[in-house]
Amino acid sequence: MIQVAINGYGTIGKRVADAVRQQPDMEVLGVAKTRPNFEAETAIDKGFPLYAAIEERADQFAEAGLEIAGPVEDLIDEADIVVDATPSGIGAENKALYEEYETPALYQGGEDAALVDTSFNARSNFEDAVDADHVRVVSCNTTGLSRVIAPLREAYGVEKVRATLVRRGGDPGQTGRGPINDILPNPVTIPSHHGPDVETIFDDLDIDTLGMKVPATLMHMHSLNVTLAEEVDADEVRELFADESRLFLIPEHMDIDGSGKLKEYAMDVGRPRADIWENCIWEESISTVGSDLYLFQGIHQESDVVPENVDAIRAVLGEADAEASIETTNEALGIGL
Ligand code: NAD
Repeated sequence: MIQVAINGYGTIGKRVADAVRQQPDMEVLGVAKTRPNFEAETAIDKGFPLYAAIEERADQFAEAGLEIAGPVEDLIDEADIVVDATPSGIGAENKALYEEYETPALYQGGEDAALVDTSFNARSNFEDAVDADHVRVVSCNTTGLSRVIAPLREAYGVEKVRATLVRRGGDPGQTGRGPINDILPNPVTIPSHHGPDVETIFDDLDIDTLGMKVPATLMHMHSLNVTLAEEVDADEVRELFADESRLFLIPEHMDIDGSGKLKEYAMDVGRPRADIWENCIWEESISTVGSDLYLFQGIHQESDVVPENVDAIRAVLGEADAEASIETTNEALGIGL
């Protein structure tokens, strides 16, 4: 069994911990947190050994009645791999710790691409992470774009991608984020940083992205235009996408008109935390004009990177190839709406 440490047990970390626990070949060795809160409490309830990420604050856990298994260094030392899911920029500070204990590490999309040996998306460049020591699982938006671009490149060739990302202002738990009543060009500079991030996954990709932020918490929405290297019928693209396990094509008859109903559907089918690990592409929106493809997709920012972290663990440790890992992860989590 692969022994996995999770450093940073917030929005992403707690989801990765649950997903790792469900895998047939992995175990959660422990999770590390900086301070006691409701997530620390649930980590203990779920039976995850809880480690103190910051030594000077370890007493706070005892004061809150939470038992600590030890300092984060013990966890990193014993683990086969660590998933760093700390806030943006903290992963970079933690790198020296992982190097000291020679524990390979996964970082999240908030870190710089320059921090790591390779950026990672299971569908697009799994092999690049094999035997790497430091790997970055790209952001929710980059993951969502990569999953669509990879099959299109293989099937038809891609000349140019243009994407407008309508981004949620914050996650449901991020009570201090906004805007509350506005629509922001964000970042206001064009193209946005998202395009270059997708280029860390693909060689020779021409992509421009524009970003906005809106008063929403549930999901991001992408408006996508891909100029293909040949003229393609929209039905053919629908068939191509239907074969992709992490693309959910929303059928017209479901009458899902936006993120609200998507999340409602996720709750109805019993998804944990109403998570949607798949890209949600409106089937009717898939249209072609000559060699230009257009579509809308919803991206659940809190969860689409979770199966990618699980696959990155196997890639780094050389435990499976892309196809086998993706299949195992999908089956263990129940991916495929
Ligand atoms: P979060 O704030 O919800 O969780 C981070 C956790 O790390 C918190 O529990 C925090 O207390 C803990 N922490 C802070 N400093 C720490 C330290 N030094 N050691 C250990 N733990 C520490 O953040 P998040 O949303 O889970 O984001 C984590 C990473 O994932 C970021 O790089 C972010 O960019 C990326 N990401 C976030 C989302 C999203 O929508 N939330 C999506 C994709 C990727």
